[in-house]
Amino acid sequence: MDGYSSCGKSTIAKGLAKKLGYTYIDSGAMYRAVALFAIRNGWITDQMMDEKAIIEHLSNIKITFKPNLSGVQETFLNDENVEKEIRTLEVANGASRVSTLAAVRKEMVRQQQEMGINKGVVMDGRDIGTVVFPNAEMKLFMTCSPEIRAKRRYDEMVSKGESPLYEDVLANVKERDLRDTTREESPLRQAEDAIVLDNSEIGIDEQLIWALNMFNK
Ligand code: C5P
Repeated sequence: MDGYSSCGKSTIAKGLAKKLGYTYIDSGAMYRAVALFAIRNGWITDQMMDEKAIIEHLSNIKITFKPNLSGVQETFLNDENVEKEIRTLEVANGASRVSTLAAVRKEMVRQQQEMGINKGVVMDGRDIGTVVFPNAEMKLFMTCSPEIRAKRRYDEMVSKGESPLYEDVLANVKERDLRDTTREESPLRQAEDAIVLDNSEIGIDEQLIWALNMFNK
């Protein structure tokens, strides 16, 4: 599954994985973990990104996923559970920046392809249908208006006790869209054989039923 930021890809991907007995893999969490590592080391600030340091230390970044007691996959960075920390706007922005680096993408794609060997996986991201799994059983491309995506992301943050400004969330969504679609390395594109799902107006249950029907066709 590919698509824009905060489109609700992960909700549908998780639902599909459950129904199909496949493993859900959040490829964006991997770019977020790299960004967190870089932010902690001072290699990403508002003003700069030390590309050389990030690339040099890629081999020191081990990213794994483990299910928690409720069966929900959580992200580990060098064996530390960082699931909560990688969900901030700062890390999202950092992820969108590190994901422009060719060496970072190459290493993430390698690890993602390994995770899909001899195993049913539902993976969501930006380049899954075009680069990571060009021969996937099914490809979905999700889209939704930036305003609706920002509102959903805003509501989610508020429900977690955060107090973001809607304007900041919308600006972040638009900034990431621009970077994702215009970067040189594997820009966000709809794979030619992907099925499009515009979820601006459709509820989650309906989307899931639709996606399962598509899968079984
Ligand atoms: O999907 P999520 O918002 O968690 O991804 C964080 C960032 O990682 C995105 O803004 C995008 O720039 C990048 N990304 C990517 N390729 C992927 C998944 C995510 O470039 N397969």
